[in-house]
Amino acid sequence: FVIQLIEYDLIPTDMNIVHSYDAFLFDCDGVVWRGNDQVPGASEVLKCLISLKKTVIFVTNNTSKTRTVYRKTFKSILDLDLSENQIYSAGIAAALYVKQSLKQGEKVFLIGSMGLSEIMEENDVEYIGQDCVLEGSYFTDFLDFVPENGIKYVVGAFDGYFNYSKMAKAFIYIKECGAEYIATNLDMNHSLNNSRMLPGTGAVLEGLSQSLGVQPKVLGKPSSLMFDMMCSDHDLENKGRVLMIGDSLQSDIQFGINSGIDTALVLSGITSKDTLLRETSIKPTFVINNILDLLK
Ligand code: PLP
Ligand code: CA
Repeated sequence: FVIQLIEYDLIPTDMNIVHSYDAFLFDCDGVVWRGNDQVPGASEVLKCLISLKKTVIFVTNNTSKTRTVYRKTFKSILDLDLSENQIYSAGIAAALYVKQSLKQGEKVFLIGSMGLSEIMEENDVEYIGQDCVLEGSYFTDFLDFVPENGIKYVVGAFDGYFNYSKMAKAFIYIKECGAEYIATNLDMNHSLNNSRMLPGTGAVLEGLSQSLGVQPKVLGKPSSLMFDMMCSDHDLENKGRVLMIGDSLQSDIQFGINSGIDTALVLSGITSKDTLLRETSIKPTFVINNILDLLK
């Protein structure tokens, strides 16, 4: 821990992180859990912060679960009883963002998981696109494809059933029908567990973006939209007392920077020490080995 600080010359070594902040925003995967396993010590640290009356909020780019399901996940993995407004996900951010401007009869073309469909339904957002799952398609099938009216947004998220038909239809809705191209996140990798990584949402959407020649508007991290959402539910006005803790430089640390708050990078997730040394443009306020170091 001390070596990290000296190497990066980031903070004075006698700084007490816990007492320096009132609110702690935690990224989930790689920080408090990896896949379905708790990061060792996470439950203990989080319970300690809660007992110190700190504001504890979770902010994830994972779009596969509703808030109701997440509450159960936090209980089962970390033994935490959370309220819904302690949990923010890029899926919820996307649903609330599109809902604001959708008029009667307007819809979303969705590239995403069943969980994201449920989030859209909970927020009364009409969507299409899930029926492409089993559809095979030939290039010439698209000669007969008639786009539906009223598709205002194409929302791209992690989709394990992503296929050419979804990509081509999303392309047509954006290119021909003028739908706005939105992504929940562009994380290139997601971790499956302690030892295996997989291609992430950014990898799924990259072919569509390249063929369009346009990058989507990102609503999850690193966009500060979820921070704005939190500010309307919690007192985070004194930004100097808010700390974002995450394992991804591009998503979490950049989210903190975009939100104007301090950041702590943990090395328990997707960023290795080597990656950190190579990345010179995104600098966290602190570097710690894992969540337990917060209490040191
Ligand atoms: N989306 C999916 C599908 C994931 O599996 C993960 C992490 O494994 C993420 C997003 C990133 O989640 P987080 O922001 O909590 O690291
Ligand atoms: Ca993460």
